[in-house]
Amino acid sequence: MDGTLSLKEDLARTIRRMYKRGLVSGVGGNASARLRMKSQILITPAGYFKGGAVQGDLVRVSLEGEVITRGRPSSELPTHLVAYRNREDVNAVVHGHPPNAVELVSVGMKIPVMTPEHAVMIEKMEVVDFVVPGEDGAMAIATKLKRCDLVGIRNHGFFSMGKDLHEAASRLEVLEESSKIYLAGRLAGSVTGLSEAEQRRIREAYGRE
Ligand SMILES: [Zn+2]
Repeated sequence: MDGTLSLKEDLARTIRRMYKRGLVSGVGGNASARLRMKSQILITPAGYFKGGAVQGDLVRVSLEGEVITRGRPSSELPTHLVAYRNREDVNAVVHGHPPNAVELVSVGMKIPVMTPEHAVMIEKMEVVDFVVPGEDGAMAIATKLKRCDLVGIRNHGFFSMGKDLHEAASRLEVLEESSKIYLAGRLAGSVTGLSEAEQRRIREAYGRE
């Protein structure tokens, strides 16, 4: 057993979870995970229904971009590969379109740290201007991916990286949760994020600093 089967299950489950949580649309978004052999990944195929993702749909690709098994990988493959090549600590990449978070970065607003989970899971996020998905997108995002685990793209979505699929997907969930709370809070009254000092105390309590 090289762990491929369980990773396939995990990847199919993750993309269904993202669909259920509204972080990807039926045909939008994609996810990948690094195989134990390190030089290959599994990625979701191009333009298929995320709500019904199953293991057999996933495409195996080398870090050089060579398709090893049958299927056409996501058009965002170049960005996923850039992340794995530049970050040895990254074993999963998730790309989604969380609507409230996309709205905030698209109007040029910062997403405040609204919850303890946000403080712990997203220490740094970068945003790039709109770029056409594919090779151009990979180049624009490449420099940012080296410095943080979450990159937003105006009028598009986010790339989240993690040591595993759970961490990468959770970062997107936590970001969208903060965005929803912030936007609802602005309608209800004045709302602010956690202060730097509060964030530091939370990270200390969670053992991150
Ligand atoms: Zn997208």
